[in-house]
Amino acid sequence: MPDIIQLLPDNIANQIAAGEVIQRPASAVKELLENAVDAEATEIKLIVSDAGKALIQVTDNGKGMSDTDGRLCFERHATSKIKNINDLFRIRTMGFRGEALASIAAVAQVELKTRRAEDETGCYIEIENSSVVRQEPIATPVGTSIAMKNLFFNVPARRNFLKSNAVETRHIVDEFIRVALSFPHIFFSLTNNGQEMFHLEKGTLKQRIVQLLGSQYNAKIVAVNETTDYLNIYGFVGKPETARKSRGDQYLFVNNRFIRSAYLNHALMNAYQQMIPSDSFPLYVLFLDLDPAQVDVNVHPTKQEIKFEDEKIIYAFVQAAVKHALAHFSITPTLEFDMNAEMQQMDAISKPFTQEKITAATSSSLYQTFSQKNQAHFIEAGSKSDLKHWKEFYEPLRDGETFSLTKADPAGERYVEETAKAAKTQHLADKELLQIANMYIVAPAADGYLLIQQQAAHERVLYERYAAALQGSPVPVQRSLFPFNLELSAQDTVMLGELLGDLLQLGFLIEHFGNNSFLIQGTPADIEPGNEKTVIEHLLEQYKHFTSEIRFSKREKLIRSMASQRAIPPGKSLSQQEMKALIEDLFNCSVPNVTITGNPTYIEFRKDYLGRLFNK
Ligand code: ADP
Ligand code: MG
Repeated sequence: MPDIIQLLPDNIANQIAAGEVIQRPASAVKELLENAVDAEATEIKLIVSDAGKALIQVTDNGKGMSDTDGRLCFERHATSKIKNINDLFRIRTMGFRGEALASIAAVAQVELKTRRAEDETGCYIEIENSSVVRQEPIATPVGTSIAMKNLFFNVPARRNFLKSNAVETRHIVDEFIRVALSFPHIFFSLTNNGQEMFHLEKGTLKQRIVQLLGSQYNAKIVAVNETTDYLNIYGFVGKPETARKSRGDQYLFVNNRFIRSAYLNHALMNAYQQMIPSDSFPLYVLFLDLDPAQVDVNVHPTKQEIKFEDEKIIYAFVQAAVKHALAHFSITPTLEFDMNAEMQQMDAISKPFTQEKITAATSSSLYQTFSQKNQAHFIEAGSKSDLKHWKEFYEPLRDGETFSLTKADPAGERYVEETAKAAKTQHLADKELLQIANMYIVAPAADGYLLIQQQAAHERVLYERYAAALQGSPVPVQRSLFPFNLELSAQDTVMLGELLGDLLQLGFLIEHFGNNSFLIQGTPADIEPGNEKTVIEHLLEQYKHFTSEIRFSKREKLIRSMASQRAIPPGKSLSQQEMKALIEDLFNCSVPNVTITGNPTYIEFRKDYLGRLFNK
């Protein structure tokens, strides 16, 4: 019998190894972006086409490579970043496995252009199936550009395993956002199928967050910043009003590396307790820095999981730091004179402190964390007064200083419910409401009055109604006696075609009628006859505004478009009955006090607040 064991050829070994590192286009994107960051680039451009299946290219202006390094970097275990095992624990740069480029070279056709500042000419290398097929000098700017084409061209099983372009693009954008958030001082751009999706000028972390996640966050994030000998935390958390029903913009980085940690996420959610509905998710972008020896980032290189030496301390620290930030923002001196919906929303403000709560709060371990200097994880507050604020947050307000809406009330119920009840207990039915400028409604509340912005309020009502409709209680269709014909552009036809199912749930019965025509068979009852076509055209217009908002699902975009499209505009005079119905509906919403874009729907004026305005 002959011997049967043989060594795998390099390219096969690399392909196997590649399976772990490069699972999908997004993993390659991550590796290439991280390499560019490691190379100290200040400008990094990512180009993808066909969801990265056809092309992923990263161009940086970093330090570049010599000819030899350019060739060597595609070898397995080729790295300039570790020389011995101790480096693994000291490493601050992102990648350290020395296998990313080798893996990429095993599963794609790769072109490298690179030049160091000290070299006159650069180097061009072409690789296929892990071997160099071409190498020649080239004129190229300082830095590196790596293009990988036809990912998995030689591993059809993997190629077939990839998800739809929309899904793979989503993953790519996720990776891009994570890297771009960690390095706000680096310029990043992302071009997808020839269209620039992101163009991120260098700036501060806050600017980067707003660039990436949306300008609606500009005034709605609070800085977190705590420093200890053991670890630092910095970044931003959303004010309670930014909380959303879907887990979206939540980012945690440890030593600048994006990680997932259900445990630390829990710490964060806990910090928001009582401030947001328990089924909603606040925004956060937080960076934890600690001695690399205290974390084992290498637990699983691709899974973004992480082990801490002392999890409990980190949990308490994260939670305390976030609470601190939120508390600080909530008791700034402007509060009394600038009482707005976002602040009122917080339990801490809207609810009176019962003795029971004070005791609970001050005896909690978190409170102790802030009060006992001798603890290992004592957090040195930015200033003494910060610390005082923090305590005040948990201490009763002086007599007559109460921010509470109603009489003392046992813990438990949420403020909004309280307000809703308050509004209702006022028996709106027999009250005369006042409409101002055909835009605002003044309604009596338990202890003052509410100023409601009619459009914002209606938008909230519609949004929740549509969201419910998509989840199973469809809006009834009112069949038209004479169906309308709708002619659209080719592009709009595709768009509308994709939405027909959801639109039916929302009360629109529309049929594709060949080519670019549709038949409107029915609409929701609240659409005035004759308006059907305009409504749908406007809806598509609005929807298009959202198409670049990759953060939202198709459905979310649709209901957002519908809500803002259908909300009663300012300038519309409302009858008593309409105003009452609107207010009733508003307070039946799960989040009545803010619009989908985070603006207040109403502002509350309470007697004690008004009194202070008049010095009475
Ligand atoms: P690692 O990043 O773990 O070292 P890689 O396979 O990702 O492994 O990269 C191998 C080596 O190639 C790096 O250590 C670095 O020296 C070099 N390299 C990769 N990308 C770049 C780049 N964009 N600019 C300069 N050097 C690079
Ligand atoms: Mg790397």
